[in-house]
Amino acid sequence: MRVVIKIGTSTLAHSTGHLNIKRVEEICKVISDIKNAGHQVIMVSSGAIGMGVGKLGLKQKPTDIPTKQAAAAVGQCELMYIYDKLFSEYNHTVAQLLITGADIENEERHSNFSNTLNRLLELQVIPVINENDTVATEEIVIGDNDTLAAIVAKSVKAQLLILLSDIDGLYTSDPHKNKDAKLIPVVNEINESIVSLAGGIGSRLGTGGMQTKIRAAQMCFEADCDMVITNGNRPMDIYDIIDGKSVGTKFTEKI
Ligand code: GLU
Repeated sequence: MRVVIKIGTSTLAHSTGHLNIKRVEEICKVISDIKNAGHQVIMVSSGAIGMGVGKLGLKQKPTDIPTKQAAAAVGQCELMYIYDKLFSEYNHTVAQLLITGADIENEERHSNFSNTLNRLLELQVIPVINENDTVATEEIVIGDNDTLAAIVAKSVKAQLLILLSDIDGLYTSDPHKNKDAKLIPVVNEINESIVSLAGGIGSRLGTGGMQTKIRAAQMCFEADCDMVITNGNRPMDIYDIIDGKSVGTKFTEKI
C-alpha cells in the first residue's frame, strides 16, 4: 500500500514548541516497521515554525512574516535532523522536499515534483515533505499541511492518507465544548452537514483545523484515496489503520 502520513505540529511538539521526544520516537519506529512490512510511506510533516519558536525561545507563534519565515528556517533544520537521526536507527533513509503553491500550479514543476517523489520511493527512501515556509508568501502559499498532504496523496496516487492530529476524528459537535459529542467513525460523502461540523478548531502552534481536514478529504474523494483523521498521541494506531480496522474517522467512498 502507498500511504501518506501527515503529522501535525501538535503531535510533534509540546505546547512549548520543544520536541515531544517520546511521541516522535514512537512515530518513527512505527513508520519504519510499516516500511519494513513492504508499504511505501511518504510523510508530510509540519512543525518547522513550531520547533523554530521553541529553538529561538520566542514566547509565541510569530504573526509577522519575516519572523515566521526565520522560525521556519531554524525549525525545518531541527525537524530533519531529528527524522534523519531516528530513522537511521532503523536503517531507513529520509529525504527533504520543500514546495510552495507555485510548484503545484506550474505543470512542469508539479510533474518534476511527482517524478522525484516516485524515484525516491523506488530507491526505498522516506520522503518528508513540508511547505517551503521561508519563501511562501501570500500569493504562492498552500497554507496548511492538510491540503498539502492531500495534494501529495493525489500526485502519487496513494491509496491512503492518514492525518495525525490532536483530535480523535470528526465529532457530531465540538468535543471541547460539548461532552455529549460523538465520534463519527465513517464518512462516505462530503455534504453540507459534514462541512458544517468542521467548525474552526485549531491548536496554539499548528495551522489547520477541522475545516482544512474536510477540504483534504474532499480532494481525496476526487482522487479515489481513503483518508483517516486520528489522534497522533497513539502512533501504534497506524498499524490498525493500515489493516483496515476502525480508528478515528475514515473518509471513504467504499461502503
Ligand atoms: N508548514 C508549517 C510548519 O511547518 C505548518 C503548516 C500546517 O501545520 O498546516 O510549521
